[in-house]
Amino acid sequence: MSERRQPVLGILGGGQLARMLALAAAPLGVKTLVVDSAGDACAGQVAPLVVADWKDYAALERFASMVDVVTFDFENVPAETAHWLAERVAVSPVPRALAVAQDRLAEKMLFRECGLDTPAFVPVDTHADLQRAVAQIGAPAILKTRRLGYDGKGQFRLKTPADVDTAWAALGAQGAAHGLILEAFVPFERELSVIAVRSREGDFRTWPLTRNWHTDGVLSLSLAPAPDIDQLQRRATDLARTLAERLDYVGVFALELFVKDGQLLGNEMAPRVHNSGHWTIEGAHTSQFENHVRAVLGLPLGDTGARGLSCMFNWIGALPDPAPVLQAVDGHWHDYGKQARPGRKVGHATVCAPDALALIARVDDIARALGRGEQAEPVLRLLG
Ligand code: AMP
Repeated sequence: MSERRQPVLGILGGGQLARMLALAAAPLGVKTLVVDSAGDACAGQVAPLVVADWKDYAALERFASMVDVVTFDFENVPAETAHWLAERVAVSPVPRALAVAQDRLAEKMLFRECGLDTPAFVPVDTHADLQRAVAQIGAPAILKTRRLGYDGKGQFRLKTPADVDTAWAALGAQGAAHGLILEAFVPFERELSVIAVRSREGDFRTWPLTRNWHTDGVLSLSLAPAPDIDQLQRRATDLARTLAERLDYVGVFALELFVKDGQLLGNEMAPRVHNSGHWTIEGAHTSQFENHVRAVLGLPLGDTGARGLSCMFNWIGALPDPAPVLQAVDGHWHDYGKQARPGRKVGHATVCAPDALALIARVDDIARALGRGEQAEPVLRLLG
């Protein structure tokens, strides 16, 4: 009898996304192998970890020989590394999708080509460009690094045109290396995200839209399905499908959206599973993590419908007391096993309920017990 060979999923980056991918892969009989330059990368607590940096081609060669497909927990893997691996082993999503998502300018141009409007933007490489861009776009505006920015990092908010010099002092050096982009500040009504998945055969699905709230540029709270979205679900799904087909995308991705005057504007895309989709672990029939594993390994996709309502709290910097979440009905605790550090995502909690009234009661109980009334307030106000 021939020995059964289990598929092996290789993951570049060993943070919490890789950790949750590995946990979702296990019941499917899929093994995972993770690469990260840090020996204490938290995915290493649940899956074998190769400690290597993105230019260690000897280690990457061995890694490629041990896996069936390579995917990402981190979109800032250098494009050369992704291309180099793609010559040796299947890589999903395709390196081109990664390259587009790594550059805010390329990303916004693609959004527009796909019919998704964006905040007004102008590329900026020099101080003089910045002056011209501010004259064109006006203030307030946000100066962002084109590359390597995430969670509000690599950004400077200009309140008035007089802030040009301060903004250049803050980001000009990074601009010289990778370029910058000035975006109009959008006084949006809401922030939404759509998490989507496309299979190798082109089967395409989205989860219900998620409503998100950020603090200092970092996701703080999510509610799904987002209430009062009228036609927006259909529009977001159509746009995500167009984008996925244009990129020949395989796997899960997220599209972060602003709603202004009832219309969608594209902020950014993440070519991977996304923080605003963590609620799908307990709140949807199939989680974003499981469907990503299924997609990249060529398995049929699972149902992306919601089981009820879910609210996700992000734990930034340090974990609170888990007890109120553990004691809540349908409360779910996620500790990523990371060291506490200011601004670092160290865990999250999801509370699910069959209807809005039950969700309000559960979220309110947890928020009171943890002294997190301010964090939970937007959901309580919206549903109350
Ligand atoms: P980003 O890293 O670009 O996703 O930005 C993080 C957060 O900053 C977003 O989720 C928004 O809350 C806010 N933000 C970014 N760009 C803009 C913009 N052009 N107008 C208003 N708010 C923005």
